[in-house]
Amino acid sequence: LASCRLFSKDYRVFAPQNLSDAEAIKQLYRSEAPEYFNFASDVLDKWSEMEKDGKRPLNPALWWIDGRGEEVKWSFEELEMLSKKVAALLSEACGLQRGDRVLLILPRIPEWWLFNVACMRAGLVLIPGTIQLTAKDILHRLQASKARCIVTNEVPAPAVDSVLSECHSLKVKLMVSESKREGWLSYKDLFRAAPADHRCVKTKSEEPMTIFFTSGTTGSPKMVEHSQYSYGVGHTVTGRCWMDLTPSDVMWNTSDTGWAKSAWSSVFAPWIQGSCIFAHSMPRFEATTMLETLSKFPITTFCSAPTVYRMLVLQDFSSYKFKSLKHCLSAGEPMNPEVMEQWKTHTGLDIYEGYGQTETVLVCGTLKGMKIKPGSMGKASGAYDVQIIDDGGNILPPGTEGEIAIRVKPTRPFSLLTHYTDDPEKTASTLRGNFYITGDKGIQDEDGYFWFVSRSDDVISSSGYRIGPFEVESALIEHPAVTESAVVSSPDPTRGEVVKAFVVLSESYKSHDPEELTQELQEHVKKVTAPYKYPRKVEFVEQLPKTISGKIRRNELRKKEWEKA
Ligand code: ATP
Ligand code: MG
Repeated sequence: LASCRLFSKDYRVFAPQNLSDAEAIKQLYRSEAPEYFNFASDVLDKWSEMEKDGKRPLNPALWWIDGRGEEVKWSFEELEMLSKKVAALLSEACGLQRGDRVLLILPRIPEWWLFNVACMRAGLVLIPGTIQLTAKDILHRLQASKARCIVTNEVPAPAVDSVLSECHSLKVKLMVSESKREGWLSYKDLFRAAPADHRCVKTKSEEPMTIFFTSGTTGSPKMVEHSQYSYGVGHTVTGRCWMDLTPSDVMWNTSDTGWAKSAWSSVFAPWIQGSCIFAHSMPRFEATTMLETLSKFPITTFCSAPTVYRMLVLQDFSSYKFKSLKHCLSAGEPMNPEVMEQWKTHTGLDIYEGYGQTETVLVCGTLKGMKIKPGSMGKASGAYDVQIIDDGGNILPPGTEGEIAIRVKPTRPFSLLTHYTDDPEKTASTLRGNFYITGDKGIQDEDGYFWFVSRSDDVISSSGYRIGPFEVESALIEHPAVTESAVVSSPDPTRGEVVKAFVVLSESYKSHDPEELTQELQEHVKKVTAPYKYPRKVEFVEQLPKTISGKIRRNELRKKEWEKA
C-alpha cells in the first residue's frame, strides 16, 4: 500500500502528479505515515523497477570518482543487487539482528552508500561518523550509542582497538580495506561469498532507522534519532522544492560522510527524486579540485557549506566553465550576501539557501521559483508549521525577534527527530508550549521570509541592544581586507559586554598597520549596518576555530574572552 500510494508515475515519488508542488507537499505532510515503510524497498527498488521498464533516463544512481582516474557508476539496479549482498553479510556472516546499531566510519567511498542502503534492508540502525574522529571521539560514540558493530577502514582501526576494552556492547568489527587486521572481519572476503537474494526487512514506519551525532558546534555532539519514515519521506521537500531535482539531474553535495547533511543531500533528497548522486572522494578540501570537477562533469546541482563558498569565490574563475551547472545550494550556517553576489558574478548563478538541523528536514529555504532576498533563509519549507515564538511559547508578530520553532501539538510532524537517544531531559528541554524549539533566534518578515539572527547562545547584549553576530560578520566580509570573521561578545566594565570581531585577513592586507586597519573596519561596519553593531574590539587571527564539518565555533572564542577577563 505504502509504495502504491507514494510512488507515482511521473517521478514525483511522494506526491501526486496532478497537484502543484505546494498542494502536493501540503497533502503529504498532513497525512499519516503508513504502518510499514522502508526506504530501500519502497523507494530505491522502485526506481530500479522504473529503470528496467525504461521509465527513468539513463542516469546513474551513484557516480563516484576519486580524481585520479578511478570511477564507479551504479544504476539503481546495481545498487539494489550490491546492497542486498551487503545486507546479507551484515545479517548472516556478522550475525546482526534487526534493531542492532552499526557505527559506520568511512571516507567518501562507494561502499559508504552500500552500507547506508544495506542497513535499511536489514533493519539495522545506522550511526554515521566522520573518518576524522579520534580514539576519544570513537570511544564516546561507541559507549554512548551502545553500537554492536563498527564498520571502518585501516585508518581508525588502531584507535578502535585501543579503546575496545571499554566498549562492552561492541561485538563485530568489519574492515573495508585491501589490508587485513587481526580480530577484524574482512568485508572483501565476506562480500564475495554473500548471496544477492536478501529480503528486505519489513520495517514499521516509526521504527528507528538512524542515529546522527550533531555537529557539536555548541557543545558535545548529541545523539539524534530518526524513524524510518522521518528522513525517508520527509526529505521530499528538500529534494523537490529546494534542490529542484529530477531523475535527469546530477547532484553533488560536498559534506563529509559523518554528518546528517550527507544523509540529507547525498542520500535521501536526491534518491527520493530519482536523481544521480555524484561524489568525489576528495579527502581534503581543495578549492581548485572543486571548480575543476564542476566544469568537467555534468553536475547540474551543487550544494556546499558557506565556509566552502567563501573559499571558492577567492579563486580565479577565468579557466572554468560550468556548462551543466544550473542550481546551487548552501546550508549549515548563514550565507553572507556578499559571497552570494561574488558567486553570481563568477558563475551567473544564485545560491539557494536552506536552513535545518540534524533534528529536522528542511525547515526553511529559498525554494524553486521563489524570489531570493539576500541574507534571508527563505520561507517555511512546507514540512512544518514554522513560527517565531517568545519565551512563553506565544507566536510573535512579523518583524519581532524570537525563537525559531516548529509546531508539534496537536500533531507531531513525522519528519522530526524521535528523541535524543537515552536523553529524555534534553528531549523535554526542546519543547515549549505547542512547539519544538530549534535553539536559533530569527525574525519572520511581512512576506513570510525568515531571517536568521543567531544561535540563542550567540546573541550579544550590549548597552541594551541585542546584536546577532551574523549581521556584523556579513558587514565585515564586504570589506576587501576580510576573508572570514567570527563575532562574539566580550566583557566590558561599563557596557557589560561589547562586540568583538576575530578577523582572518586576506593576503594583501596582512602587512597593513593593525591599528589603522581596526579603525578602517570599524568605520566600514558603521557605514554598512546600524552603527551600534560595530565591533569595539578587533583581533586579527590566522584562522577561526571550526567543527570538523567547517562551522565556526563562536562559543570557544567567547569562552576564552570571558575567561581572560
Ligand atoms: P550542535 O547541535 O551539536 O551544537 P549544530 O547545531 O551545528 O551542532 P547541526 O544539526 O549540524 O548541528 O546544525 C544545525 C544548526 O546549524 C542550526 O540549528 C543552525 O544554528 C545552523 N544552520 C543551519 N542552516 C543554517 C542557515 N541556512 N542559516 C543559519 N544557520 C544555519
Ligand atoms: Mg544543534
